[in-house]
Amino acid sequence: MNLILMGLPGAGKGTQAEQIIKKYDIPHISTGDMFRGAIKEGTPLGKKAKEFMDAGELVPDEVTIGIVRERLNKEDCLKGFLLDGFPRTISQAEALEQILAELGRSIDHVLHILVDPAELLARLTGRRICRNCGATYHLIFNPPKVEGECDKCSGELYQRDDDNEKTVGTRLKVNIDQQQPLLEFYQEKGYLRNIEGAKPIDIVFKDIEAVLSQTS
Ligand SMILES: [Zn+2]
Repeated sequence: MNLILMGLPGAGKGTQAEQIIKKYDIPHISTGDMFRGAIKEGTPLGKKAKEFMDAGELVPDEVTIGIVRERLNKEDCLKGFLLDGFPRTISQAEALEQILAELGRSIDHVLHILVDPAELLARLTGRRICRNCGATYHLIFNPPKVEGECDKCSGELYQRDDDNEKTVGTRLKVNIDQQQPLLEFYQEKGYLRNIEGAKPIDIVFKDIEAVLSQTS
């Protein structure tokens, strides 16, 4: 089962990824984990990536792609993998096609967890924190009993600056723009499976299971 997981921040990718790797016994391969792994092992590519990261620069595609190639060649990927956060660009997606072709494999499904950006904005800006005791709430998922007031100590609840609508809206927009060409790329290849992500977590997972039970 060779899978790619896509979706905007707040769409619930992390939660679904956990359930997918458990049920299908495949590794969850996120870009961050791959970099950390390569750096820890001290591979030539890991060393190269570290140089760029230490300099505060973007790691160039050829290094990233090399690290992906090394990772997909590992034994735990024989049964499949769940890629998360890679590819981010069309050139990375094309490189991935090539790497998989070299390995005699191909992508089975690109799971795209689809949630309306307005709903994502509500999810991502809903966090509130108690000024007094630091307890955290969420207006949708874990609301306080009294609006604006901490259940534990009646302290005032506030919103962190990086949770505000403007910051989160900008971040969403960047992600939407980045994701769109990839969705089109995988749509054309026939890999794209849109999963309605606004439903409860276990229903979303059932929908994913239904997609994965179909042979590609
Ligand atoms: Zn409190």
